[in-house]
Amino acid sequence: MGGTDHETPKSWDAIVVGAGFAGLAAAETLSAAGRSVLLLEARERVGGRVKPATIAGRAIDLGGMWMGPTQTRLKKRAENFQLQAYPQYIRGKTITHLLGRTAKAEGDIEYALFNIAERLDLARVARKIERLAKTLPLDAPWQARDAHALDAITLESWLQKNAYAEKTRALMREITKSLFCADTSQLSMLFFLFYTKSGGGLDVMTSMGPGGAQNFLFDGGVHQLAIKMSEAMDAKLLLNAPVTAIRYEETGVYVEARSSEWRAKQVILAVPPPLAAKIRFSPALPSIKAGLFRRQVMGSVIKFWVAYPEPFWREDGLDGMIFSDSEPASAIFDASPPDGALGLLSGFFDSSPATNLWSPKGQDGRRQAMIKTLTRFFGDKAQEPLDYLDNDWTRELWSEGGYSAYMPPGVLSHYGAALREPVGPIHWAGTETATEWTGYIDGALQSGDRAAEEILAL
Ligand SMILES: Cc1cc2nc3c(=O)[nH]c(=O)nc-3n(C[C@H](O)[C@H](O)[C@H](O)COP(=O)(O)OP(=O)(O)OC[C@H]3O[C@@H](n4cnc5c(N)ncnc54)[C@H](O)[C@@H]3O)c2cc1C
Repeated sequence: MGGTDHETPKSWDAIVVGAGFAGLAAAETLSAAGRSVLLLEARERVGGRVKPATIAGRAIDLGGMWMGPTQTRLKKRAENFQLQAYPQYIRGKTITHLLGRTAKAEGDIEYALFNIAERLDLARVARKIERLAKTLPLDAPWQARDAHALDAITLESWLQKNAYAEKTRALMREITKSLFCADTSQLSMLFFLFYTKSGGGLDVMTSMGPGGAQNFLFDGGVHQLAIKMSEAMDAKLLLNAPVTAIRYEETGVYVEARSSEWRAKQVILAVPPPLAAKIRFSPALPSIKAGLFRRQVMGSVIKFWVAYPEPFWREDGLDGMIFSDSEPASAIFDASPPDGALGLLSGFFDSSPATNLWSPKGQDGRRQAMIKTLTRFFGDKAQEPLDYLDNDWTRELWSEGGYSAYMPPGVLSHYGAALREPVGPIHWAGTETATEWTGYIDGALQSGDRAAEEILAL
């Protein structure tokens, strides 16, 4: 891999735009099938929303990090490249703070803070969500019987009508923030149902334990997989190559980056929707596709890490997790390395406070707020960390937010049909186009494989 950009007029079988996991999977699948592939990446690195860093001498992920056991595509590729997965630490009590009350307890949050009537309400709401989700075909949720009605309302308005207990609504708001980096008032109900169904349901998506989406971490970080995939594949990778225009005509499809142009038979675009919306297409995209790109909104997230000499909270019988509706971060987790030689906590400033409050404060302001929170819950030992580091995804030029894009009302039912439909020689990948684990690394891999298979089937 490698090389220069002065190789026109060579024509490629396929050009893949974006070297996140979707683009990497697409390039890997196509090149393994003997196709010539050029992979164009805007950044100076591969991985996209998966990003490496170090804290206190340890490699960590500033973006995507966890794997669940049902994320089979990620699991298989991680095994192929011999990444070491280890279970998320979950022994001990979790701290939960909701509606002014704090509890330290093992097991599900509701058992610590909910009375029987509230628990029944929560269970009823969960059943209702499950029943509604059952009616959605994952590959075409816009065709569900009640798609338009469900897409006409936000998750918040649905909760106002269907959840009787204020605690149920408060918990659902917190869960929504941690899953979508957005507020219940911003999400379409149809989109919420589709997204949670694609990840196996709310229980799986919120769980840190066996079977849950946050069940495994990778020793040394999942970003290693992106690097290894890019090194192993027989495709040509060009970094620092932001694509600005894509034009197609009878002689092929032409892709422009760094004032150069490359020709191919087919293109796969594997970039987040707001970035795709900035590319100049010629002929212009069908209005349903352009409209979809313009209406998908990236979540707001700043991921942080705090390092201590050891995971001292474990000695106090705590699992290191904090869920709170009043602290700067709605969720904090123990992400210490498997040998426990260092104590690492990681978490997220998310949803509207991330955009309105925490992003403008800068890293120092966020560091101070976080140390204060950790000291409040874990005691004085939290006061003197070895190090603090965070990554403001709302300010990343080539992501514009994370974990992924969400849809407000009126988008999925009206524009959803354009999610994966090729336009001429242009095919669409990216986690936002996945039918399983959309929003996650596994969904990105699925989307890349699917787009590559579309081309191989031609
Ligand atoms: C803080 C955070 C935590 C997360 N945690 C998890 C987790 O624990 N587990 C999990 O499974 N998922 C997690 N995710 C989500 C996961 O990281 C993403 O779903 C996944 O990485 C998306 O991959 P992708 O290839 O679809 O898109 P991206 O990773 O965004 O890749 C797109 C690529 O396209 C490039 N690009 C953009 N515009 C252009 C252009 N014009 N020309 C050329 N290149 C361009 C970008 O630089 C980028 O490299 C997290 C995300 C974030 C931000």
